[in-house]
Amino acid sequence: MEVTPATPPAAWPSVPALPDPATDRVVASGLVAELAYAFGGPYHFLLPDAFTANLTAMQKALTDAHVEGFVYYAKKANKAAVFVERAAAGGAGVDVASTAELREALGHGVPGADLMVTGPAKDPALLHLAVQHGATVAVDALDELDRLVCLASTGRIRPARVLLRALPATQPHSRFGMDDSEMTTALKRCREAADVVRMEGFSFHLSGYTLQPRADLAARLADLCRTARLQGLPADRISIGGGLPVSYTDAATWRAFLDAQRPAHYHAGKTFHTGDFYPYHAPVAGADALAALLATRPEGTGRALAELIRDAGIRLALEPGRALLDRAGATVFRIQGVKERDGYQIVTVDGTSLSLSEQWFASEYLPDPQLIPRHPAPATGVFPASVGAATCLESDMLTWRKIAFPHPPRPGDLLLYPNTAGYQMDSNESRFHDLPLPPKAVIDRTDQPRPRWRLDRHFT
Ligand SMILES: *Cc1c(COP(=O)(O)O)cnc(C)c1O
Repeated sequence: MEVTPATPPAAWPSVPALPDPATDRVVASGLVAELAYAFGGPYHFLLPDAFTANLTAMQKALTDAHVEGFVYYAKKANKAAVFVERAAAGGAGVDVASTAELREALGHGVPGADLMVTGPAKDPALLHLAVQHGATVAVDALDELDRLVCLASTGRIRPARVLLRALPATQPHSRFGMDDSEMTTALKRCREAADVVRMEGFSFHLSGYTLQPRADLAARLADLCRTARLQGLPADRISIGGGLPVSYTDAATWRAFLDAQRPAHYHAGKTFHTGDFYPYHAPVAGADALAALLATRPEGTGRALAELIRDAGIRLALEPGRALLDRAGATVFRIQGVKERDGYQIVTVDGTSLSLSEQWFASEYLPDPQLIPRHPAPATGVFPASVGAATCLESDMLTWRKIAFPHPPRPGDLLLYPNTAGYQMDSNESRFHDLPLPPKAVIDRTDQPRPRWRLDRHFT
């Protein structure tokens, strides 16, 4: 079948991912195609060196700001074991929210004392394990605190280490955390149960990515630590949660994309609201965002957050997920079929949109997939195509957007979705249609001409 190139490229808004030499090396080595052959279906590959580099940069941002801090990797962002292994090796803890996550973290080398247990209304078994292993529990509600006190009083186990999670005043409709009056009650109960509960401080997790509200709330909780200490509680740390932004593309691209995108650019004329897209460009991201946060002056203080918490003798915990996983992996599908539509094509790949996970948020994963032709040839034109899943659901599209590919996509070609390790890979994966879950290949080192790989060691 002869395909003719369509409209000029300017007509197709694109979101090229920022260059990533490690991913490029894996593609250039031929490993991507080899793994597609070996697995016979979609798969993820993981680049844990990126995780380690991100972790080291965050730890350096803390040191540079002279802040005593500790990074907990928010495990929910990716199920792979290798990132937990890298957290343990890099002197970081892990933030877990289920018994299974706790078991995984312990089993892959993170000491119990380096675990942070978050999430609402925690399972009693989880609370029990947390106390037994000396993990810190971020308590979400008064009834949970009561259960924890009760549990810690009965068993012959150590005192429960507790942070009290604050309901942010800027996000009053959040279902997480305690408001001011609940916090007062919680402090009182911690004092009464001081023999079984060690109240170590406060925590929060804000949605959104702006720094000022984080700095403001951190400063407020630092004050609250002082108050709690005057009441005789240890209260020497705060956790500022996650939410360090990641930049997937450059500023100009992102602005141009948001301005240009309209329903005609998507299969079936689908409408996406720009406000529902993840902000794929962040002016300051990852460890730089942490440094910027530490330099931010909380409202009404006139001093940098770093200075405030240092003077208050406070240890700063953070729980980044996405930002630790920036560039730490990619997802590969094989094209199974290609069909013509009016002025574009629909390619169908051998997996589902659940392996990209963004559809859950009335959005889609926007960084452009890279076409890896089975028979490499020079770029020949512009061939717009949307990407559908190998399922019987009309709405199961990996990419509604018509991607302007430089080659006509053909069955057997591969599509690589870049930078998917943070939340995209496996938060929604399911065995829909009895399709197997995509395996994860770990590429421990990418600085070699012939990268080697192994399977991830996730237990379940
Ligand atoms: C999800 C979550 C995180 C991680 O958030 P990121 O945006 O991935 O950094 C940290 N802490 C808590 C309590 C969370 O729920």
